[in-house]
Amino acid sequence: MKTYALAKPALAREEERAVLEVLRSGTLSLGPKLVEFETQFARLLGVRYACGVSSGTAGLHLALLAAGIGAGEEVITTPFSFVASANAVLYVGARPVFIDIDPVTYNLDPAKIERAITRKTRAILVVHIFGQAAAMAPIMALAKKYRLKVIEDACESIEATYQGQKVGTFGESAVFSFYPNKQITTGEGGIVVTNNKRVYELCRSLRNQGRASNMQWLDHERLGYNYRLSELSAALGAVQLGRLDDFLAKRRALAVLYHKHLAPFGHLVQIPLTAEENTHSWFVYVLQVLKARIHRDRLIEALVRVGISTKPYLPAIHLFRFYKEKFKYRRGMFPVAEAVSARSLALPFHLELRERDVRFIVERLVKILEKGL
Ligand SMILES: *Cc1c(COP(=O)(O)O)cnc(C)c1O
Repeated sequence: MKTYALAKPALAREEERAVLEVLRSGTLSLGPKLVEFETQFARLLGVRYACGVSSGTAGLHLALLAAGIGAGEEVITTPFSFVASANAVLYVGARPVFIDIDPVTYNLDPAKIERAITRKTRAILVVHIFGQAAAMAPIMALAKKYRLKVIEDACESIEATYQGQKVGTFGESAVFSFYPNKQITTGEGGIVVTNNKRVYELCRSLRNQGRASNMQWLDHERLGYNYRLSELSAALGAVQLGRLDDFLAKRRALAVLYHKHLAPFGHLVQIPLTAEENTHSWFVYVLQVLKARIHRDRLIEALVRVGISTKPYLPAIHLFRFYKEKFKYRRGMFPVAEAVSARSLALPFHLELRERDVRFIVERLVKILEKGL
């Protein structure tokens, strides 16, 4: 039986050659490849600084630390995200204050932000989910009005735009991830971008055990971490970055194929929508299962039996047990996020899929939906 993975990195000879070259050079950390990758990345976004780190999660931790957010403070963020965004707020001892999401983009609903602001609110941690930007104009206006910092979790949305401006260029800092299921990969890895020199220097120091910037090897001036990105990863990233335009064009084409093949089945599934102000960078292709009688989790099991991997993207963070216990979150508090979360289904989405694969996946999905479970 042919099987269809949910995600798969696109790796070729070029990547192999680049990694092998680093291996043979003997410089495996803090070398020229990291600088090259950071320089390329900053240029891509048109920002001053980029600081490579060991993961997107590590990047979020450093971005919050560099913003000076700490114990007793509040950060407004979304419950509809990968758990790492909210966890990073916990790492610095602050409280994630969730608000509900927009039903089209699944990102923070700006109309609900203002009433969540308290005297303790210090920042808005915006997540651009699934490859699509949050409504940055109203969010930036609110941040300005209440003097809040904005940090962007752009881990899923490299090159997505809002009103023509790239995600990752709105806030004080932004974080991208290069986990293997993301649009480009470094194996494990991430990057923090900013135009703020102080934020950049703090991130550089914190990722490297708190070392001073012009320092001797063992001069540590603050509590730091080991969040460095290896030369092997950076070399991989530099090659992947060079292929990004091609990758994104192919992802867009794949999304269009799914749109086309799913179009006749609007009574069964809602295809992903893109807000007018946005261009999408297609991290995943997530449907909403409309048919009330179909239990989404059983649908996932039925698809696995015919070789198709899908995932419930995403479980709502406020309903994870340790969030419920720690912060007294309950079902019913964020109805849009909960409804989207209960019906969402991510389909196989990677660059090896051809139109015949899309046709097969849609046929199987529709057959199960029409027959019922
Ligand atoms: C992938 C991801 C992260 C974490 O990135 P890692 O590199 O896996 O640590 C954070 N936030 C979002 C929204 C993500 O999709």
